[in-house]
Amino acid sequence: MEQADKRSYNGKRLPSGSSLGELFECKGRFLAEQNFEERETEEANLGTIAHEHMAEETDIDEVPDELNYLVYKAREQRALILEEFKKICPSVTKISREVRLWCKDGDEAYFSGEIDYFEVSENEEFAVIIDYKFFSGYYKPADQNRQLQTYSVLLKDEYPKLKTIFIALAQPMLDQWTTAIIDGDNLPALRARLVQLSREIQQEGAERKAGIHCKWCKALAHCPEAYEWVKKNTGEIEMDNVGNDELSEKMAMVPTLEQWFKAVKKLTKDRLEKGIDVPDYKLRKSGNITTFNVPEAAKKMFDANLSVDEFLKCCSLKEAELIKVWAKITAMPVAKAKKDLRLRLESAIKQKPKAQSVVKA
Ligand code: SF4
Repeated sequence: MEQADKRSYNGKRLPSGSSLGELFECKGRFLAEQNFEERETEEANLGTIAHEHMAEETDIDEVPDELNYLVYKAREQRALILEEFKKICPSVTKISREVRLWCKDGDEAYFSGEIDYFEVSENEEFAVIIDYKFFSGYYKPADQNRQLQTYSVLLKDEYPKLKTIFIALAQPMLDQWTTAIIDGDNLPALRARLVQLSREIQQEGAERKAGIHCKWCKALAHCPEAYEWVKKNTGEIEMDNVGNDELSEKMAMVPTLEQWFKAVKKLTKDRLEKGIDVPDYKLRKSGNITTFNVPEAAKKMFDANLSVDEFLKCCSLKEAELIKVWAKITAMPVAKAKKDLRLRLESAIKQKPKAQSVVKA
């Protein structure tokens, strides 16, 4: 998670390139969000750690199991993207990772962006920008991606001679990546629009406009405009007769509605935990999670004459843990240890396809 001070210039918090594009949709969001804390999710935290391993080029064997494959895959995608880029960029390039750039005129700064990865050619006329999205959410492809466009503006400010910028969005979880080319001559006009936007969103009273873009807004549960939007879009609908186009439209709203429900539940829980009365609601204990120290339990149960087979029937094997141990014992890299285990245990593996999920086409 980026720290607030990283995005501040001369003590003033400014928009960042990762969210600036979203502010076209709701200009009031920038000020509305300042009163609320970041909504942390396990996925977002893992994403931050994955970015760190990419930036530091951690040895793949040192990357934690839960991220090992994703980081490996992201590096593979990066290599393919760079291969494409090198076809249009004839010269040697210099690599930068997780560098924060600022868009400013003299002492007046407008916005900044921390770019996951970029390379600029020796003559400073060509560049490639890569943004990693580690989890499975929907992101606009490179040719429509505002974050990458904003990063291109930032890079052009830093390297005014840039003529061609190859932009890429890498999504290792989805096994896909998209690319596009931005002509450096188009960037001054985009810069002017973004500077104008950055000024507008910092004005008191900037208009709030709700819609599906509210999904990750920190003000979501508190925003009257978002509440009106939720009410309007959860009104009666005759499900049996709904047309497919209307259903698709409704489906697009679901992620934002889900986030709104979650945010309201979390707010209620937080207040109750602080002892604040929320009429008709109270906290309820939901039991304990019981786990066993397996080696100790095994010893006790074997002493009590439970057979090894019976005991093992009650245990489940975690693949990630087994790979870790196997990699250590055999001194194999994690990816190789996984492959080796899958081969060795072929007859003992059961795989059941997960239920299909609905995603945006
Ligand atoms: S919840 Fe939506 S309408 Fe309200 S400030 Fe956030 S983005 Fe704007």
